[in-house]
Amino acid sequence: AKSQGRGNFQFFSAAMNAATHERLLLENRLWQALERNEFELYLQPQIDLATQRIIGAEALLRWHHPELGMVGPDRFIPIAEESGLILPLGDWVLQRAAGLLHAWRAPGLAHLRLAVNLSARQCHGPGLLPHLDRLLHSHGIDPALLELEITESAAMQDPERSRTLLNELRSRGIKVAIDDFGTGYSSLSYLKLFEIDRIKIDRSFVKDIETDPDDAVIVAATIALAHSLGLEVIAEGVETEAQRDFLRSKQCDEAQGYLYAKPMPAAQFEAMVHQSGVS
Ligand code: C2E
Ligand code: CA
Ligand code: CA
Ligand code: CA
Repeated sequence: AKSQGRGNFQFFSAAMNAATHERLLLENRLWQALERNEFELYLQPQIDLATQRIIGAEALLRWHHPELGMVGPDRFIPIAEESGLILPLGDWVLQRAAGLLHAWRAPGLAHLRLAVNLSARQCHGPGLLPHLDRLLHSHGIDPALLELEITESAAMQDPERSRTLLNELRSRGIKVAIDDFGTGYSSLSYLKLFEIDRIKIDRSFVKDIETDPDDAVIVAATIALAHSLGLEVIAEGVETEAQRDFLRSKQCDEAQGYLYAKPMPAAQFEAMVHQSGVS
């Protein structure tokens, strides 16, 4: 038994070492990636459910590593968050987003809103507001076209500071959306605590609205509650026409998901907007 335990331990620690190794490897490469310009912002269209028109996009980070290929944010954002790289990386994302909004001050694109994800560290660090002010000013951007997505869990790490930050953002006219709504422990107190513009109903609720009556009730009630508080609602992860029809029947304002399009390079998104404007 003793030797077996020892063997298990060795097996376990070998697996841990591999995980630690991959982590260290990715962490080193992440810092280089910023210098080497290996990141790209993909855009996923957001659709007005009443008119079926594209009203904007969510910016989603992609990392093209020369050897590893495309690395998804679920693999590197947590590492970036822990190592502190998320601060320069988050600044890069905002800078790139401002560049896009600047370029969109053009015929056929000037109405588009861009939603950007903020990490917990970014929200609670001191540099965010001055950086945003500089970017909006230097790029001549209408703040109402920039939306910042903050998850419940990020805001709840420090509710007092989050409250102040969200008020500062909204006093500038920047929009605020609560991401992954319904997945935290305190979704309802969130609505009471924070001044926001929109909630994003999490994909995990949307996924089963056709098959799980509880999820259908939760989604319908969430939309009604949000509307009665004067908030708009976007549903994420919409994959089927039945989901879209359900959401539309419940007066959900907007939708985003593979039914419409996967996240794509900016040029492709812009072409899609131009095309949909013509037809
Ligand atoms: P999120 O903010 O909840 O983003 C939505 C995720 O759902 C995206 O994954 C998107 O590609 C995916 N998605 C969209 N529609 C569908 C659908 O119909 N079905 C399914 N199955 N998935 C769909 P992605 O791009 O891999 O991003 C994962 C997470 O990484 C994001 O979740 C966000 O938390 C984080 N992330 C991405 N970009 C950034 C960034 O610039 N900054 C920060 N801090 N986090 C980011
Ligand atoms: Ca998001
Ligand atoms: Ca989300
Ligand atoms: Ca998510």
